[in-house]
Amino acid sequence: MRAEFHLIDTHLHLDFDAFDADRDEVVARAVAAGVTKMITIGISRETSRRAVALAEQYEAVYAAVGIHPNEADEWDEAVRAELRELAAHPKVVAIGEIGLDYYWDRVPHERQQAVFRAQLDLAAELGLPVVIHDREAHADVLRVVREWVTEVPAGERKGVFHCFSGDEEMARQALDLGFFIGVDGPVTFKNARRLQALVAALPLERLLVETDAPFLTPHPYRGKRNEPAYVRLVAEKVAALHGVSPAEVARTTTQNAVRLFSKLSGALEQETS
Ligand SMILES: [Zn+2]
Repeated sequence: MRAEFHLIDTHLHLDFDAFDADRDEVVARAVAAGVTKMITIGISRETSRRAVALAEQYEAVYAAVGIHPNEADEWDEAVRAELRELAAHPKVVAIGEIGLDYYWDRVPHERQQAVFRAQLDLAAELGLPVVIHDREAHADVLRVVREWVTEVPAGERKGVFHCFSGDEEMARQALDLGFFIGVDGPVTFKNARRLQALVAALPLERLLVETDAPFLTPHPYRGKRNEPAYVRLVAEKVAALHGVSPAEVARTTTQNAVRLFSKLSGALEQETS
């Protein structure tokens, strides 16, 4: 079967044990559905290592490496050095996911903010974009990012607010700071009118589509395990909200992803030539 358009799932967790039984099939189903690239995201030292190993194992898989705010306790100089080393891999396209999580609140806020800022600086040093996690920490995430943007030279600081959950005012500020907005399965939920209105109001040129698999499964599979093939459902919903074809959303969000995650671009040129 040849898919009529190609998509990139810019955020999933392929190393999680939810995929242990059928990881090969999950990747194959995604590729068959036109999801020709996917970025598996580290949340800790160990999962970052696994993300890179999966990128080596599967042609379609790329990786991001970073320490999630819930794991910020493990941050130290040795972790910084290892992330720097892992990030040198040709298929590591970003530092992430990093950010603040005041919902689970596993690590003191000051510590989360220090580890977030340290990884933003690491990304700038390496010339890589960042994948930002923000859960119930909107004001502090914006503040830390704004300080970083102010202090670090332009061109070396960009990223995505993954699974964006703020309001339109926050989204405008994120766009003004040069960031992209990540859209996930919840946009397909019937009761997600506020999020749908927000996604409809934002420029397609600044959106990325993600699954966050195995989490956040889109309608009509809600309640089951999520997988990268389902990023099509997110793209189709974005298309409906913007009144354009799914193929146009696929084309635009793929360009966006390649613009942000520039280490993807070599691979894409090969594919289209
Ligand atoms: Zn995630």
